[in-house]
Amino acid sequence: MTMEGSYPMKETILLIEDERAIADTVVYALEREGFQAVWSQTGADGLQQLEERQPVLLILDIGLPDGNGLDLCRTIRQSSQLPIIFLSARNEELDRILGLELGGDDYVTKPFSPRELVARVRSVLRRHRHIGENTPVNEPPGNATLGPFAHDTEEMRIYIGDTALELSLHEYRLLALLLGRPKKVFTRNEILDLAWEEPAMITDRTVDAHIKSIRKKIRQVDRSLDPIRTVRGVGYALELDLDSNG
Ligand code: CA
Repeated sequence: MTMEGSYPMKETILLIEDERAIADTVVYALEREGFQAVWSQTGADGLQQLEERQPVLLILDIGLPDGNGLDLCRTIRQSSQLPIIFLSARNEELDRILGLELGGDDYVTKPFSPRELVARVRSVLRRHRHIGENTPVNEPPGNATLGPFAHDTEEMRIYIGDTALELSLHEYRLLALLLGRPKKVFTRNEILDLAWEEPAMITDRTVDAHIKSIRKKIRQVDRSLDPIRTVRGVGYALELDLDSNG
């Protein structure tokens, strides 16, 4: 039953999942909660639906018949910051870390309850919508610059020179947090509390994985720049030599 005409504001969620039984329950749960669910069975079809249907969020299975959800995420992230929740049949830490490192916003392991998944969908959408209000960075809106970094809080982008870093939501929040209080050492727990809204669902290693990814992205823009200091056993701090050029 489609009622797009009567519900012009209905938001579309795309599900890429090859198992019909799982897809059926997810689609049912999403539609009962007022979303328009679109189901793709393969990565290739999913990419096409992504273009055509312009979903507000993607639920992405990791094991797909024509490839890997992680690779698909990498491809999508080259051009889009669409919120992504991974589904995995395996409770593998590596998948989880990789998924978050590649820019996934959340991760659900099968078997899961459809109700739990829908709750995660709502939570991820809420985070994306209200990031402006919730961003724990105490600085005025607009542009703030620090050394080579420029933080445009309205645009929610961080630049090195003229180049915008391609950050996932949590990478952005984490780096914004460090930039907001340079030199302060943040413990992993503080980072989880301030840059994530449901820290109970993630581990310290999530922070490490995001830091690793942010460092890599900074290096891609400027090879000589490595401003995030690891404070062994504690956490991370931003260190910039602001007296020198750069
Ligand atoms: Ca699968």
